Amino acid sequence: GPNTGVSGLEFHKSKGQHILRNPLVVQAIVDKAGVKSTDVVLEIGPGTGNLTVKLLEKAKKVIAVELDPRMVLELQRRVQGTPYANNLQIIHGDFMRVELPYFDLCVANIPYNISSPLTFKLLAHRPAFRAAVIMYQHEFAMRLVAKAGDNLYSRLAVNTQLLARVSHLLKVGKNNFRPPPKVDSSVVRIEPRHPPPPVNFLEWDGLVRLCFSRKNKTLGAIFKQTNTLQALETNWRTYQALQGNAGAAAPPAAAAGGIASLGAAAADDDAMEDDAMDGDDDNDDAMTVDGGAG
Ligand code: SAM
Repeated sequence: GPNTGVSGLEFHKSKGQHILRNPLVVQAIVDKAGVKSTDVVLEIGPGTGNLTVKLLEKAKKVIAVELDPRMVLELQRRVQGTPYANNLQIIHGDFMRVELPYFDLCVANIPYNISSPLTFKLLAHRPAFRAAVIMYQHEFAMRLVAKAGDNLYSRLAVNTQLLARVSHLLKVGKNNFRPPPKVDSSVVRIEPRHPPPPVNFLEWDGLVRLCFSRKNKTLGAIFKQTNTLQALETNWRTYQALQGNAGAAAPPAAAAGGIASLGAAAADDDAMEDDAMDGDDDNDDAMTVDGGAG
């Protein structure tokens, strides 16, 4: 059942409500974010506002998106009558559904169940923000920052790193949260690339899905498979036909709906969560904060 936290508020694990309670970790996150006095900061899932109040001390404005109406009330109550009350805008809603406002920085201890779509929603937002400093589940963070050749290198890392530079900032032990979650966390810095690479992201993602479609198979082996070659040829013909090139008859797929995703040839899911997390996840040389919750 739900745990009772500050002011008798019940925390719901189903909503990812693990409140960051160690003030040293909250301060470390705010410091590493490099908040300027001119910045509009987007916070996702402010909860009871431990991070929000620290951000308000530094930023011009904080816009916090929170799903739970009880948390919205709690946060309003917390800033009421303080000098910062006018600098906080709360958007009550589901982050995945709200239209994002302009922001310079994103700083957030997010609900982990939406880590992947949340990250790509941020990266698709225009104009691009300067940086995001986000708390993820540790394993997810390690997959985000994995490099080519690492065990954890996957479609998630490739696609994120196409659009942004990512770096691991800080490992945060589960005892820094109330109630403590089952897993450790990590803070990651994400800086969108300027300008964004000139690629069609859907086409790119189709190719990447294909590259990661078979575990323990080389790219060479994947691209020699008959169904892969057929999908590539079909797409090529469709593309030629759409360009109006004579001699390349359009296959039926073209009439049905344009260029098929290459990924359709790969047995895969949509969430970029398809790789087993079986690597050694202690390969980070970044600072570690453990326990000591206040
Ligand atoms: N950041 C807070 C802190 O450090 O004290 C707590 C973060 S808690 C891990 C996640 C918060 O996100 C909860 O307050 C929860 O209600 C909220 N939340 C969950 N799903 C959400 C969604 N889809 N959109 C916006 N907020 C959400």
